[in-house]
Amino acid sequence: MVSRVIPVDPFDLVIFGGTGDLSRRKILPGLYRRFRDGQMPEGARIIGAARSDLDDEGFRDFVEEAVRSFVSKRKCDPETLAAFRKTLFFVQVDALGDDGWAELKDRSKPDRVQAFYFSVGPRLFGPIAERLHTKGIAGPQARIVVEKPFGHDIETARALNATLAEHFDESQIYRIDHYLGKETVQNLMALRFGNMLFEPLWNAQYVDHIQITVAETVGVEGRGDYYDKSGAMRDMVQNHLMQLLCLTAMEPPSKFDSDAVRDEKLKIIRALDPIAPEDLVRGQYAGDDETASYLADAETDSSDTESFVAMKLHIANWRWNGTPFYLRTGKRLKARMSEIVVRFKEPPHSIFEADTGQSANELSIRLQPNEGMDLKVTIKEPGPGGMRLIDVPLDMTFADALGEELADSPDAYERLIMDVIRGNQTLFMRGDEVEAAWAWTDPIIEDWERRRDKPTVYEPFSTGPEEALMLLHKDGRRWREIRE
Ligand code: NAP
Repeated sequence: MVSRVIPVDPFDLVIFGGTGDLSRRKILPGLYRRFRDGQMPEGARIIGAARSDLDDEGFRDFVEEAVRSFVSKRKCDPETLAAFRKTLFFVQVDALGDDGWAELKDRSKPDRVQAFYFSVGPRLFGPIAERLHTKGIAGPQARIVVEKPFGHDIETARALNATLAEHFDESQIYRIDHYLGKETVQNLMALRFGNMLFEPLWNAQYVDHIQITVAETVGVEGRGDYYDKSGAMRDMVQNHLMQLLCLTAMEPPSKFDSDAVRDEKLKIIRALDPIAPEDLVRGQYAGDDETASYLADAETDSSDTESFVAMKLHIANWRWNGTPFYLRTGKRLKARMSEIVVRFKEPPHSIFEADTGQSANELSIRLQPNEGMDLKVTIKEPGPGGMRLIDVPLDMTFADALGEELADSPDAYERLIMDVIRGNQTLFMRGDEVEAAWAWTDPIIEDWERRRDKPTVYEPFSTGPEEALMLLHKDGRRWREIRE
């Protein structure tokens, strides 16, 4: 299969926080892979910007180490690495002061596409946007990429939107949610809107319920300071799970362009019913061994922050009236797994005997690990013995179906960065979407805070609190197993 990649003109990508963890693990290795695949045109430059005392050569060494650590050995050949090094530069800049900005301006080329990636803590987002503008660094084709968290609540998100809007037009602002860069998430749209098969059934008449799970095995170690002020609702639900919910539930946009898609997503967030307290479960992991607990990981003596949340949601529109959406996410769960499951209703009338084994169809869309989709269908069990039915998966694990093609496909960050360079905002959150998501989550969090709600304890490496299982059991349903 020949890959069709839209060529781009030489660009500058300035990474504020180019020496940070996200840059080292994701952004820089991803850019190397794009370079190796011929997607970075001759003359494109990657400029690291941070306070560290580095020069161009020092940054090149830093990046080479990052590439060697996070890109497969097979792709780290010396010639490509040497050529990639030549695209790298470094400017020592203090985002909160005046140092380094004049040099950044001298080295800038405002006549080309300039992408400024804010891979720094959120308190630096506003000051960097302001300096890029007031110091005359951002040219007419400038765009900024803003990492999460985008605000802490609606007030701070509004204030950040307003600050960014003083210096950049909305068409220049790319609020990144790396879940949207995943191959499977885009495939969800291809599946829904590129086939006739699913969309007619994609509604309350045929769908019994939908589950969205984002389970992690990692705890909060190393990030406790940030996480303890945030919790699963702010850190995962307001952004990642909400985005997955929107793409699953939205109406077909009239075209695949950024505003059409984001308009439809926004309508879903605005159609979410307020959530009833009995439809919410909060948890915090704590094992017998004290060291295996959230409190130890977050290095605090006491905390009511949730490391797990599960909920049942209703979308108040014609398509989804009566179909619940169950969402759950947590840390220190039994496996790392993200998936969306669409459980269809059972056929209205069975012509088979009661115990033949007939059940409902289930479409699961796996984001990680093993990206892919499978559709559970009922068939006759082969062989003699009468009409006995079994469920079999029509499996479309991308690695099997696409082989090498998938192995070489970009990961979320590199795909999204190339979208920024091309000026495609479809897979980035618009300001009003982010605010609407906060407007929905804020009252829930405020209620917890007002009542000093204590999260339920759950065992590390389990499936979360019992109550989360009950959320579905009391409706006669069950979660899909959390498994690798
Ligand atoms: P980090 O490891 O702490 O890196 C922060 C970067 O910011 C460093 O390069 C640091 O370099 C630079 N920096 C700090 N203060 C600065 C200043 N005054 N002026 C200029 N540069 C400054 O953080 P991170 O984990 O990479 O996270 C970066 C952003 O991405 C955060 O908003 C985070 O929430 C988000 N994020 C991270 C991850 C992840 O996996 N790490 C995942 C999702 C989102 P110097 O010290 O040299 O200045």
